[in-house]
Amino acid sequence: MELRDLIGNEENKKLLQKIVQTKNFVHSYMFVGREGIGKQEFAKGFAKSILCLGDMEEKKCKSCLEFETQNHPDFLLLNPENGTIKIEQIRNLMNKAIEKPIIGTRKVYILNDADTMTKEAQNCLLKTLEEPPEYLVIILIVQNESQILTTIKSRCTKIVFKQIEEKTLKEYLEKEKKFSNITQADLEIFDGSIGNAFKWQQKSELYNQIENFFITMDKKGKIDILNNQNVIYQNKEEILNIINYMNNLFLKKMKEEINNRSKVARYIDCVQILEKTKKRLKSNANFDMCIDNMLLSIWESIYERK
Ligand SMILES: [Zn+2]
Repeated sequence: MELRDLIGNEENKKLLQKIVQTKNFVHSYMFVGREGIGKQEFAKGFAKSILCLGDMEEKKCKSCLEFETQNHPDFLLLNPENGTIKIEQIRNLMNKAIEKPIIGTRKVYILNDADTMTKEAQNCLLKTLEEPPEYLVIILIVQNESQILTTIKSRCTKIVFKQIEEKTLKEYLEKEKKFSNITQADLEIFDGSIGNAFKWQQKSELYNQIENFFITMDKKGKIDILNNQNVIYQNKEEILNIINYMNNLFLKKMKEEINNRSKVARYIDCVQILEKTKKRLKSNANFDMCIDNMLLSIWESIYERK
């Protein structure tokens, strides 16, 4: 993606384009802002422009082609491993940094989620920031600035990214990402973040599937129940929310059937089963067994209760 095609943060876009045009680079930048507002896309677009051998407008240069196929030897995007960026990763990066650029005259390294760097990793990086090879540009992508050593911050040019304006975000999601019927309430949930919008979309699909699963439960046999709820197995990290959602489904059913005592009793059983499952999961019981147990017990309370 080229800088000019990115959405939101127009001022930053202009600033970065200007830096590229004037070739007025510093050695280290820090892109700061919350998740999902395009910091990484901007960093990649910026990197591509810095590395470009042409003027980005005419036929694509060798550098841009290599960049697009993710084979650029002078570009590197470093991500955390198991939640943190470790000193070994920074050492490897520094060893690569001292090798001269291959394609052009510059190298660009992006450290994604740089605020997950350990203290040791930051101190190690500091050495490179203090005496960077003349061809190297490093971009740190940061959500939580307070996690970064002051000594590192003082060596970086800071660029702050803001939430994407509602109107811009809505247009982008509808035109480019095929979202439909985005309401004002949705936009408030998205909170100016493309990342949030995608998470929300995935979740809303998940909850539709779960609701559907319960609506059609009566058409399924006991064995089918266990074979057909991958949607629950696959969303382990979301399980407590899923259980709360199921809880609300049963409460809704209860209200609908308020005059049918026996049915109400069944739904009360189900709510209790959910509560028990939550407790068991919180005490680290085996996940699959808890879920199998929960689904079978629910099925039995609804269809086999005497
Ligand atoms: Zn180019």
